[in-house]
Amino acid sequence: MKVTKSGSRRKIYVKTPGGVTKVQYKIRKPQAPKCGSCGAKLLGVPRALKSELANMPKTAKRPERPFGGVLCSRCMRDKIKAQARLKKA
Ligand SMILES: [Zn+2]
Repeated sequence: MKVTKSGSRRKIYVKTPGGVTKVQYKIRKPQAPKCGSCGAKLLGVPRALKSELANMPKTAKRPERPFGGVLCSRCMRDKIKAQARLKKA
């Protein structure tokens, strides 16, 4: 990939084996995934590049529960409760 000094890339200061500090320009990480209902940051979902996610197992990419990786745990509970109450009535 072409390395550019544009502001869209983050600066990383790297100390080389020779003791010289050099600047490397790396791609910024994407925004943290948000809950589809309340907008809270989703826990257990990595904030990684697409290329990094491709080499990650599915179980490392979202919580293993209904609506995992889509809704936060509180919204998931509320949704399941609402569905159960609708069924009863
Ligand atoms: Zn939520």
